[in-house]
Amino acid sequence: MSRVNLAIIGGGLVGASLALALQAGARARGWKIVLIEPFAPGHTWQPSYDARSSALSFGARQIYQRLGLWQNISQRAEPIKQIHVSDRGRFSTARLSASEEGVPALGYVVENAWLGQCLWQGLDKDVVSWRCPAQVTRMEPLVDGYRLTLDDETLLECDLAVLADGGRSGLREQLGVGVSNRPYDQSALIANITPSEAHDGMAFERFTDDGPMALLPLPENRCALVWTRQGMDAQRLAGLDERSFLSELQSVFGYRLGALKQVGVRHLYPLALVEAEEQVRPHLAILGNAAHSLHPIAGQGFNLSLRDAQALADALLDSESVPGDFAVLQAYRERQRMDQTLTVGFSDQVTRLFSSRLPLVSVARNLGLLGLDALPPAKRWFARQAMGLGTRPDV
Ligand SMILES: Cc1cc2nc3c(=O)[nH]c(=O)nc-3n(C[C@H](O)[C@H](O)[C@H](O)COP(=O)(O)OP(=O)(O)OC[C@H]3O[C@@H](n4cnc5c(N)ncnc54)[C@H](O)[C@@H]3O)c2cc1C
Repeated sequence: MSRVNLAIIGGGLVGASLALALQAGARARGWKIVLIEPFAPGHTWQPSYDARSSALSFGARQIYQRLGLWQNISQRAEPIKQIHVSDRGRFSTARLSASEEGVPALGYVVENAWLGQCLWQGLDKDVVSWRCPAQVTRMEPLVDGYRLTLDDETLLECDLAVLADGGRSGLREQLGVGVSNRPYDQSALIANITPSEAHDGMAFERFTDDGPMALLPLPENRCALVWTRQGMDAQRLAGLDERSFLSELQSVFGYRLGALKQVGVRHLYPLALVEAEEQVRPHLAILGNAAHSLHPIAGQGFNLSLRDAQALADALLDSESVPGDFAVLQAYRERQRMDQTLTVGFSDQVTRLFSSRLPLVSVARNLGLLGLDALPPAKRWFARQAMGLGTRPDV
């Protein structure tokens, strides 16, 4: 049986980013890391690198810059120069702009498949060895670590096991980690759209009585659509022929980008706010969607998990102890608590406020949008949350 310092279970966006954040320090310390993942990037079933795109915050760019990956990622990252927020059927709108915030971009939209490729290419196999395709089927706590059973019946021991196996984590359940699960009764329909007019780096967040939608700028003048609707309605939209779908989307989105000409493959994601009740135990950390899955409309889920991953790597590398020391893991958890609470709260409240059909709530959000545009401090606060800088006084 082999033993390593760290085993990262799940090589999705979060697991791979953690491996990269640890890589240089691990090399210096002689640590051995294993990344275990059933599907290599580019495989159609790899959940992290499917047809989705991610809006990376300005804070995420800073992290990837620090890791020396940004130059590669930025080759296919579309900068968000402005965000246009509107409420269908009401006059109020708000605009956030990169120039007003004094940043080169409010964020960047990257296709997950491209991001995955950049992350996996950045891994140094001498420090991070891959077990792919492979899956962990069992985790057993030991006094000084964890014993993992893989699907080929091989055993692997580690000082620290990091669970980054996604929102439906079967291993979290196996370990008896409780979750709070609040379904939104909504699904996100995603697809790429080609409009007739240039998007010019403008991202649109549009709120309607039937749920919020986002249209984010992509390279080659495409846009990534995230359209949130009640579950049955989302299924109906996914089943429409291309022309009927585009015509319904056009009637809800309007003509801000001219005629919507083409739609790519549509996928559905049922949505819930799921939070693990524990994120650390001795020799165990839970990260990414396995720790918290958020509603996608505010584009915060992966950005938050990337900050968690960087903070966990910093905590492990700043300590003299062997990875897995509970005090170090608890200190990491404390450091990220405020960021997680604010980001999860922001994302959840924006979603619920902007999904409500109650007349008073509609009036409040209309006033909120007007106030946001008229009040520079409120707008700045909103922009910082959207850029993933909300809890970082240093930036
Ligand atoms: C429609 C949509 C749009 C989104 N848009 C944004 C956005 O714009 N910005 C943003 O910040 N966030 C966004 N998010 C959130 C973001 O996608 C997630 O935060 C991110 O995918 C979480 O990554 P993860 O690595 O934790 O989980 P996953 O992506 O689920 O990856 C988990 C990995 O673990 C592997 N795995 C599973 N079980 C095992 C096992 N037993 N052993 C080994 N490996 C295993 C899986 O194969 C997978 O590769 C969006 C989410 C959705 C649904």
